[in-house]
Amino acid sequence: MTARILVVDDIPANVRLLEVRLLAEYFEVLTATNGPDAIETCENGKVDVVLLDVMMPDMDGFEVCRRLKSDPATSHIPVVMITALDQVSDRVRGLEAGADDFLTKPVNDLQLMTRVKSLVRLKTLTDELRLRASTTRNIGIEELLSRNFASADTTPKVLLIDERKSSIERVQKMLRSSADLDIATDPHAGFFQAAETPYECVMISTGFADFDPLRLCSQLRSLDRTRFVPIILLAEQGEEGRIVRGLELGINDYLMRPIDQHELTARLRTQVRRKRYNDQLRASVTQTIEMAVTDPLTGLHNRRYLDSHLQTLFDRAVARRRPLSVMITDLDRFKTVNDTHGHDGGDEVLREFARRLRKNVRGIDLACRFGGEEFVVVMPDTDGAVAEKVAERIRAEIAQMPFAVGQDGKTIEVTVSVGVSSVLKGVDSVAGLMKRADLALYEAKSAGRNRVVAKAA
Ligand SMILES: [Mg+2]
Repeated sequence: MTARILVVDDIPANVRLLEVRLLAEYFEVLTATNGPDAIETCENGKVDVVLLDVMMPDMDGFEVCRRLKSDPATSHIPVVMITALDQVSDRVRGLEAGADDFLTKPVNDLQLMTRVKSLVRLKTLTDELRLRASTTRNIGIEELLSRNFASADTTPKVLLIDERKSSIERVQKMLRSSADLDIATDPHAGFFQAAETPYECVMISTGFADFDPLRLCSQLRSLDRTRFVPIILLAEQGEEGRIVRGLELGINDYLMRPIDQHELTARLRTQVRRKRYNDQLRASVTQTIEMAVTDPLTGLHNRRYLDSHLQTLFDRAVARRRPLSVMITDLDRFKTVNDTHGHDGGDEVLREFARRLRKNVRGIDLACRFGGEEFVVVMPDTDGAVAEKVAERIRAEIAQMPFAVGQDGKTIEVTVSVGVSSVLKGVDSVAGLMKRADLALYEAKSAGRNRVVAKAA
């Protein structure tokens, strides 16, 4: 794993110390000896993780962190605060400033590497999502995310998996006002509960009498539905080895008992915030993909999707020696609808047509708005004779019941012409298939409209 780490410390010897150790692990290292330089480097460059000294003259680490986290251009970069003292109050201040983690001087090698590696892994995921989201859509991803920040303060739904009553009660009390907490006392039941409920964080105690908590961590990481849920381990003093293994398995954070309430709430908040950020990115990517392949007026797939997918369906049918049919439908005299009822009326007709079309095709059929008033349905596993019947059913459904236009109960008669074609045995192509359907449609139009013509094999 290679990544670019920015080391920030006002004392050059400290910078050098960390630099050497990171270089030994093949990280790329950038350095800064004051806050403003660090911020500038983050804004300009490709920084994957920041290791940030707390005690610096002029602008201290808390302030640097706050500024990085409040700027949408740098807020996704993980920040590890390096505190001189093992002071809970410093840690809490750091986490409240938005830090993702902290280390205490003198920095323990193992902790340094596991923390940095775990944050780099997270950053890689975030970067990937940011890239996909921003390359597929022109709208700024930062703007999109900041628009959703209203939801940032809702109480997170959290699961605690722990079998010790006293420990459960303590955590319940600490999180009373900051989390909607569910409890599972049995680790197996807890696993299923985590899989079935959209938790924003799962906290796992290491104190099971008869169960390896890391096993649960690895199960949660391997299941699709829980792959991205943050896991916080509640460990005992002296369990460093287990924590390191946990971090390697993908737990996101840990707390040592006795648990400090401020630290617990701050760490939980950090994990939830990060999860929500990534969830929003993921949703925006999904939405972008959907937008790219969907016709906004009718909700059917668009032509771009048909163009990219028809070849796949065609190849699959040929390879499996299965039939495949296509119908092209075209609303008759649609121009008259637009001329008489305006484009809003025309849109209403198109939407209603799409609704009736969808009602009459199967889930595996691919229904698309090809453009204007032309629609295409691709029907896998369907021979010409069946396709012709489906087309006839659609034609009848359209002609049977007039379409409502506008608010005042006005209706109009709408009819449709349909051309059907099927994949020929022997030599055929997508272009040939579409051409024959188009030809059939043309014949249906010439023969007087409101009819189906099939060019079946
Ligand atoms: Mg310092």
